[in-house]
Amino acid sequence: MATTDGVSNGRTEPCDVCGTDTLHEVSIQLVTEGGDEETAQFSREPYRVRECVRCGNRESKRMNNA
Ligand SMILES: [Zn+2]
Repeated sequence: MATTDGVSNGRTEPCDVCGTDTLHEVSIQLVTEGGDEETAQFSREPYRVRECVRCGNRESKRMNNA
C-alpha cells in the first residue's frame, strides 16, 4: 500500500533505479566546485539533491544550467 499523504518535502518523480515513479526527498545544497581557494568563492553552485526513499538512490543536478 502506497500512501504519500502527509509528506511535505517529498516529490513523486521517476527513479532510474526503481524504474518507476517513487517518492523522493528533495533538498537544495550549495556545492563548491573545484578545489582552488582563489576561485572557490565564485564557484558555489546550487544543486538540487533528491533521494529516492525507496531504494536510497541519490542524484544531484545543477540548478542554473542554461
Ligand atoms: Zn529508487
